[in-house]
Amino acid sequence: MGWRARLQRAVERTREQLSQRLDAFRRDRQALTPEQLADLEAGLLAADVGLPTTKQILSRLRERLERNPESNGTAVRALLREELLAVLQSLPPTEHTGVAGASPVVVFFVGVNGTGKTTSVAKLAYRLQQERKKVLLCAADTFRAAAGEQLEMWADRLGCEILRQQPGSDPAAVVYDAVKAAQTRGLDAVLVDTAGRLHTRSNLMAELEKMKRAAQKLVVGAPQEILLVLDAPTGQNGLAQAREFTGRVGVTGIVLTKLDGTAKGGVTIAIARDLTLPIRYLGTGEQLDDLVEFDAEAFVDSLLGLPISEART
Ligand code: GDP
Repeated sequence: MGWRARLQRAVERTREQLSQRLDAFRRDRQALTPEQLADLEAGLLAADVGLPTTKQILSRLRERLERNPESNGTAVRALLREELLAVLQSLPPTEHTGVAGASPVVVFFVGVNGTGKTTSVAKLAYRLQQERKKVLLCAADTFRAAAGEQLEMWADRLGCEILRQQPGSDPAAVVYDAVKAAQTRGLDAVLVDTAGRLHTRSNLMAELEKMKRAAQKLVVGAPQEILLVLDAPTGQNGLAQAREFTGRVGVTGIVLTKLDGTAKGGVTIAIARDLTLPIRYLGTGEQLDDLVEFDAEAFVDSLLGLPISEART
C-alpha cells in the first residue's frame, strides 16, 4: 500500500464525519443557511480542529456569504481547504535543523509514555533502512526495563544494531556510548528512545538537556532532530504536557501517532497551530511501514475527501 492510501485510510473516520456535512451542502444547491454553518462548526470542533481555527473559518465563511449570498457547498470545501492549508503552511520550514553533513545524524524521540515513541523509533529506522542507511537504536529510557526490551525486539526484527545498558544507568552515558559506537562503525543515524517519565527525583527535562550535551561532545549540532511524539486520540488534552517539552528541550518537529484510531484527525491542525512546530510524520497504524511523511496539501485533501495529487511524492 502506498503512502497516499495509508494516509487516506488513517483519516477515514475524520473524513467521514466532515464529509457527511460537506456533501449535504453540495447536494443542496441553495445558499448556505445559518443552521448549515452551525452544523459545520460542530463538525470542525468534533474533528478536534480547535476553537481558534474553527472560529476563523466560520468568520471567513460568513464574510464570503455576505459578499456573495449564493455561495454553496462547493465554495465551502474550497474555502476550508484554503484556511486549513494556511494554518499548516505558516509553520517553520521542515528542513533538518542540524549542521549540514554532520555524521551520524542523531534523532531524539521525546514525549510521555504510551504515545508511540518506541514504535515510531522502529518505523523511522525501517524507513532509513529502505534508503540504505545504517541505523543504530539507542535505548535511553533506562528507567523502564520493558522499554529497553521492546526496543531490542524491534532491533531484532529490523536486523539493526542497538545499544542498551543495565536498567538504572545514566541515560546521557548511554547516548554518548551509542553515538561513539555509531562513529566507530561508520553508521548513518542514531535514533534515541528517551524516557517519558522518571522514577527518580531527577528532572526529566534536565536529563534530556544532559543527553543533548552528551551527543554534542561527539557530533557538532547533534541532536539534529528532536521529535516530540504525540498521539491523535489524546488530542488537545496533551498540549499542556507537549508545551513543557517544546519550551524546555528545543523540539524541532512533531510525530503524530495513532491517526488511524480516531475521528479527531483535525487535531493535527490544532497541534501545529498551538505549538508552532512542523508536523514531520504521521503514524497510520502499528506496522513498520505505517509512518507517512507529512505533506500539508496531501493531508488537507485527504481530510476533505479530495484527490491527492499524483505529482507529489
Ligand atoms: P511509548 O510508550 O511511547 O514508547 O509507546 P509504544 O511505542 O510502546 O506504543 C504504545 C502502543 O501504541 C503500542 O501498542 C503501539 O503498537 C501503538 N501504536 C504506536 N503508534 C501507533 C499508530 O500510529 N497507530 C496505532 N493504531 N497504534 C500505534
